[in-house]
Amino acid sequence: MRPKLLLLFAIPAAAILLMGQAEKKKKAGNDRWNQPVGYSDTPVIPEQKWKVHDIDRPRPRQITPGAMPTNPPSDAVVLFDGKDLSQWEFRGKRGQPAKPWKVENGYFEVVGGAGDAMTKEKFGDMQLHIEWASPSEVLGNSQMRGNSGILIMGRYEIQVLDSWENPTYADGQAGSIYGQWPPLVNAIKKRGEWNYYDIIFEAPKWEGDKMVKNPYATVFHNGVLLHHRQKMIGPMAHRVVAKFQPHSTEEPLMLQDHNEPVRYRNVWARKLRSYDQP
Ligand code: MG
Repeated sequence: MRPKLLLLFAIPAAAILLMGQAEKKKKAGNDRWNQPVGYSDTPVIPEQKWKVHDIDRPRPRQITPGAMPTNPPSDAVVLFDGKDLSQWEFRGKRGQPAKPWKVENGYFEVVGGAGDAMTKEKFGDMQLHIEWASPSEVLGNSQMRGNSGILIMGRYEIQVLDSWENPTYADGQAGSIYGQWPPLVNAIKKRGEWNYYDIIFEAPKWEGDKMVKNPYATVFHNGVLLHHRQKMIGPMAHRVVAKFQPHSTEEPLMLQDHNEPVRYRNVWARKLRSYDQP
């Protein structure tokens, strides 16, 4: 056979041979595009029960995030969407009949004396998004200027206050863990403008009457970090340090009626579960 003719046969033959080898590789699982979805021959991760890349480890459930970080994701409990207070109840103050707060223009507003607002839903570990605005007119000073509060589990307060050019004690400013920790910075918007908090809260744990884990709070104010997993040392109290009292693992979220027309809008919460519990 002439060399040219030999080449004519050799090239297609080599091509067929190579294709066959690639197919074999693919079948053997050596193809870089065809990866295993987990492993069972790997070491156990220290302090966990799972192996590295464990094939049996539960996959987190998929949720749909909100279009903007301030919009509720698909697994949030929407507590106020601008329309009604169906997720809330009002108990009235000092024997007064319960009266709902005012709803208008996509927000709801404290009605002084109506009493605190409590969610019907109860929460333990949670992620909370809440937007608020203190009145644009100056009513009083220090703690009587746009005061309300976010009382997680009805007890543990992240302060709401008009802290715009308003001297008051550090552990009573907007975003403080009231009476315990001042915020790391004062991230308040100008008087009358809307603020928002994103709070991650870890509920306390009890064994009977004994608290075995304190509550902890991480707080962002207008996207700025105020507290990084800060330990809370008791329920909200004025001029004293209050002692913990045992309570349920889930409790309603409360907004404080401090007799000032503070507004709230876009309130949603996510119940947090631990790892590997999708
Ligand atoms: Mg308050």
